[in-house]
Parts: sequence; C-alpha cells; structure tokens
Amino acid sequence: MAGHIAAAKDSILQLTEYIKSTNPNIKIGFCGYRDHCDNSLRLQIFDFTNSYEEFRRNLTSVLATGGSDGPKDVLGGLYAAITQMSWNNGTRVLFHIGDYPPHGKRFTNMQDEYPDGDPNGLTAENVLEKMKSENIFYFFGKITNYTDTMIEVFRSIIGEFSIFELVEGVPIELINKFAAATSSITMSVSLTSTIETRRNLNSSPQKLEIDRNIPDWGTRPAIKGATLYYYIPEDVAELKNQRFYDKKNLISKTFHFKVAQKPFAVGVEKYAYYAINTKYDPPRRIVMKAYLTDGTANPLKKYLESTEISALTSYLAIKFNSKARGKGIPFVNFLRVNLVRAAFDGRTRFYISELELQDAVNSGVIVEYRPVLEAFFLLTDPAIHCIDPLRFGKTNLGRNGINRCFLDSHGCNDVCRQLRLPTRG
Ligand SMILES: [Zn+2]
Repeated sequence: MAGHIAAAKDSILQLTEYIKSTNPNIKIGFCGYRDHCDNSLRLQIFDFTNSYEEFRRNLTSVLATGGSDGPKDVLGGLYAAITQMSWNNGTRVLFHIGDYPPHGKRFTNMQDEYPDGDPNGLTAENVLEKMKSENIFYFFGKITNYTDTMIEVFRSIIGEFSIFELVEGVPIELINKFAAATSSITMSVSLTSTIETRRNLNSSPQKLEIDRNIPDWGTRPAIKGATLYYYIPEDVAELKNQRFYDKKNLISKTFHFKVAQKPFAVGVEKYAYYAINTKYDPPRRIVMKAYLTDGTANPLKKYLESTEISALTSYLAIKFNSKARGKGIPFVNFLRVNLVRAAFDGRTRFYISELELQDAVNSGVIVEYRPVLEAFFLLTDPAIHCIDPLRFGKTNLGRNGINRCFLDSHGCNDVCRQLRLPTRG
C-alpha cells in the first residue's frame, strides 16, 4: 500500500507538471482517501489552486503510509472529491488513482469488513451519477489488477472512460496518453464550457424588487399550470427507497392560479410570492416560492427535493402524531408543499407552493393554513439529516447532522418519557 501511494504521488506530480506547462491557468487539487478505520486520515483534501508549487508542497506532505491491504473507501473518496472541492471551472477532469476496490461483494472477493458495501450508504450509482451531473470527466489510473471488477462496474454505469496503467507504464507514455485523452475531450468540453459560462453569468443571485403589497388580482393574468407531488410513503421501507421519489411517480393535477409579479419577501434560498388558486370562488390565497437562482445545472432538482422532503416529512409527522395521540404530547404541525410547473412569459417556471387545504385533508396531513406566514422559511422548510448524503439536498449533513444537530444537544424530556424511548445518559 505504501509503495502504491508513493507511485501514485509520483505519477500525479509528473502529470501536473505536464498540465501546468501546457496550460498555466489550470487549477489543480487533490483528494486522498484511505479507509474507514483510518479515522482522521481517511480523507485528505487540498482544494484547487493555481499554484503548482503549493500543490507540490501539499502532495509531498501526504504520508505514504496507513491502511492494510484490501478494499478501501473508494466511494467516500470520490464523493468527497466531487462534493467537497470547489469545481468552479467549465472543464472538469477527475483523475482517480487507486490500488484497491471499494467495499462490497460487488467489487471484490477479497477479505472485506463491509461485504454489503459502503457503511455510509454510498453506491457506485449515486456517486457516479453525481459526478456526471457535475460535468466531471473521469479517468482512472490503474496500479493493480484488484480494481478490474470496479472498472467494469463503473463502466456499466457511466460508459467508457480512459484507463492508465501507472506502475508498469513509462511516465512519458502516461503523459502522452493523458494529453491525447484530455485533448479528445476538448470538443465535448467546449460545449459544456459554453453552457457553463452562460450559467455562471446567470447564477449570480437575481436581485428582484420586493413588493409587500398584495397585488390587484384583476390585473394579473390567469395561468394554467400543473401541480405535482409525491404520495406520502406507506411505511419506512418506501420512505427509504429512493426509487419511490422518481420523477415518474409524481402525481400531476391541473392548477389554475395567479401569481404576483414581484416577490413580497426573500429568504436565504427562496423568493416568496403572493398567489391565488382561482379554482375556488372566492379564490384561495396561497404562497408560492421560487429559488433565488435558476442557473444551476438542473433547476428542477431543488424543487423535486423540496417535494420529496415534504412527502417524507408528512409521513414522519403523521407517524409521530399517531404515537403522541392521547399522551398529552403536542402534535407536530406541518405545512405540506408541492411543486408547481407553469409556462408563461415565454419560459417554464417552477414554484414550491403550499398544498391546498382540501388535498391535504384528504391525505390525512395535519395542516395549518396561514395565508401570511411570518418567518415561514423556517416553519415550512424542514431539513432532513440522513446517512445517505445524496438525498435531501445541501441541508442534509449526514451522520454529522444526526449527531451534532440532534443527539449531542438532546436532553431527554417528557416527550421521550411519554413515548417510552430509550433515554440518554
Ligand atoms: Zn430523548
């Protein structure tokens, strides 16, 4: 293992030297991974820098020690490289060098402490799909044959990618091959970069004028759109199953509404608009929210996340309230939201909207209908901490969130006692 790290370091330095000589503006970064048992040494991240010298110094400080032979936290390492480093440029290349496969029978027959796969719930699918959605090009530097099955699995997910034999390979050959491979992606990258540049222009948060007055609805156009939501899961198995929250499982209904031209409030993430549901007479007042930037790679993604979180929070609230019933424990009030899609003024727009009272009653959700909500960004935007880091957006802080945001500060109280939960020291 130590020898492999040394070899990898060498290859990386040679490669970056080459890259810097051909393109001095390129930024380079490093994310090293070991294994779960290495604790604080599990990940070592040096974010992107313009300075080759800094990069070289950082890399030299990486110890060529640690770990035993066998599967490594490959998925955790890749995921950290994708999500914890600042990928700001249009052209993104991830050169992964590894000696051993990820954990799990799917990747290896070697002795493995985690034969069922990553203990944090990462899978090759969710990690590589994330990489793809971030427009990162993947290359693999091969040191041993232990990674052959991993390569097969990865290719079944993201298609072909280039592989470089590092140990037996002659350095100059490696560099030439890498140069050929990276220039072959230039064509496809130039398209991405164009999109990227446009996106960067767009993604500085739009500054919209705020108007706190309720609009004169007579002057606003009537809009026909669709309201979309997920069924509330039946049980925990459905709640845990991400396939349940596939776009194709969204329920869609026609939605007639009017929305204010200007938002009446702005939060950290969203603008809030007065709106009315014109199906009713008199129309029902609702609040519709739109994310500050629509410049992300997939603007729909955040809206779908909110919709998913809403369905799931409904389930948890119903479950909690059924346990709380008759025990003198206050019910959890939760305002369900759904996704609104409508095309007007020449483009498709998305909103998060409060679910109508009637639908909510039908689905058994506890709802407080408040046309005007002070501080409603807090009241209606639940955050879910989950060991699967790929669900529930950026407010999901994973195990850390579960421990630090809840368990560490939780003092057992009447609710815990009434529900006969195991109490903490
Ligand atoms: Zn407790």
